[in-house]
Amino acid sequence: MRRLTCAQARDRASDLLDGELSPGLAEELARHVASCPTCPALYRALIQLHRELRAIRAVGGPPAAG
Ligand SMILES: [Zn+2]
Repeated sequence: MRRLTCAQARDRASDLLDGELSPGLAEELARHVASCPTCPALYRALIQLHRELRAIRAVGGPPAAG
């Protein structure tokens, strides 16, 4: 079983939020976050940032599909 490093997990988290991560890689990411002492906080911060960026885009332009 492969293990992700924290740097790899962060890369994948941003790909996941962009909708560019395959289900298998998303599962590896989830497994890392579940077992890592530091990544859950970073992961939540990334999700929060992503939501804010989407909100900014929604205000500044026409609504995007999805
Ligand atoms: Zn980690």
